[in-house]
Amino acid sequence: MAHSTAPLPAEHLIAMEEEWGAHNYHPLDIVVERAAGAWVYDAEGRKYLDCLSAYSALNQGHCHPRILSALREQAERVTLTSRAFRNDQLPLFCQELAALCRMQMVLPMNTGAEAVETAIKAARRWGYTKKGITAEKAEIIVCANNFHGRTTTIVGFSSEEGYRDGFGPFTPGFVTVPFGDVAALEAAITPNTAAFLFEPIQCEAGILIPPAGYLQSVASLCRKHNVLMMADEIQTGLGRTGAMFACWREDVQPDVFILGKALSGGFYPVSAVVSSREVLGVFSPGTHGSTYGGNPLACAVARAAVKVVVEEDLARRAVELGEWMLADLRARLQHPAIQEIRGCGLLIAIDLREPARPFCEKLMKLGLLCKETHSHVIRLAPPLVISRDDLDWACRQLEEVFR
Ligand SMILES: *Cc1c(COP(=O)(O)O)cnc(C)c1O
Repeated sequence: MAHSTAPLPAEHLIAMEEEWGAHNYHPLDIVVERAAGAWVYDAEGRKYLDCLSAYSALNQGHCHPRILSALREQAERVTLTSRAFRNDQLPLFCQELAALCRMQMVLPMNTGAEAVETAIKAARRWGYTKKGITAEKAEIIVCANNFHGRTTTIVGFSSEEGYRDGFGPFTPGFVTVPFGDVAALEAAITPNTAAFLFEPIQCEAGILIPPAGYLQSVASLCRKHNVLMMADEIQTGLGRTGAMFACWREDVQPDVFILGKALSGGFYPVSAVVSSREVLGVFSPGTHGSTYGGNPLACAVARAAVKVVVEEDLARRAVELGEWMLADLRARLQHPAIQEIRGCGLLIAIDLREPARPFCEKLMKLGLLCKETHSHVIRLAPPLVISRDDLDWACRQLEEVFR
């Protein structure tokens, strides 16, 4: 066989990646070879419990058998038509996802950042054609410490210098307010405001949970001023925080959901903007598109991934396991480096007074994978299919590291 090769040792693979791949990440030095459920394995046969879940793309666990068979079956039928032709999966995907979100329309894309870009375009066009904002004047309000992806427009309204430095000039039309501050949001709204774009919980910023009632207040402000409430639920959505969507924990229905990550359960990049006919109806043929967006393979995978979230009741697992884990960690971990342990569903932060990276490296040696976020926070976000026993094992490894 042409490609039959002996496995290369891990150090060799790491050196190759460093030489030939751009250095835009700083990964832990584990070379994953295969994975199943909550566990990943390296070439030496060591196993690790995955407590990052690819930033919540793997809510359904690695290589979920039902999603895998959907992928296989579809891959043997048809994978890509482009939107120049119709395919038999897109209508079902749109209908099922709209119903799940209690919305009317779906616009499929591939990566999360593209879905955010799509929502920005929708909001601007809605602002001009429906709200009557003067041409070229539309504003979108965003939050300090936001994370919405890495495209030029999106990093332009980031408050993180490292995301922006050297990448300007940036797209105008964005206004920043503090996260969790309703009065600041109201003060920032002008007749030119088309939308408020936010994360219900700021994950990359360190799992920052807004004050209770914030989303309710945002919803009524947006309604009062005719501003679109656009929830980026790419990381918080699809069960992670203990509800299907984090907004629903406060019984809030935003105008726009932006989804990605777990929408495909880790198999294939699938993202979507889900909203009303009034908002997504602003797009007409030629105004937006993507060659791979809405392809039949993506749609079949996402349909299966969403079914797993619903049928395996992953949101309920996130509540039950998350509450238990949060209480267990608070009882177990008494260490001067720990400032706070907070969480929502199976999205838990250990907020430290010192850099988190050395703790993550020690945890890796013990067989637990997690990653620092915002330098001082350890983010724990295991697959929602994780067993109680595995979670208990994770807590014991954390206890070991914070002894
Ligand atoms: C990951 C993420 C994105 C970007 O998704 P990509 O698929 O990496 O482009 C956007 N918003 C939030 C909240 C995210 O967590």
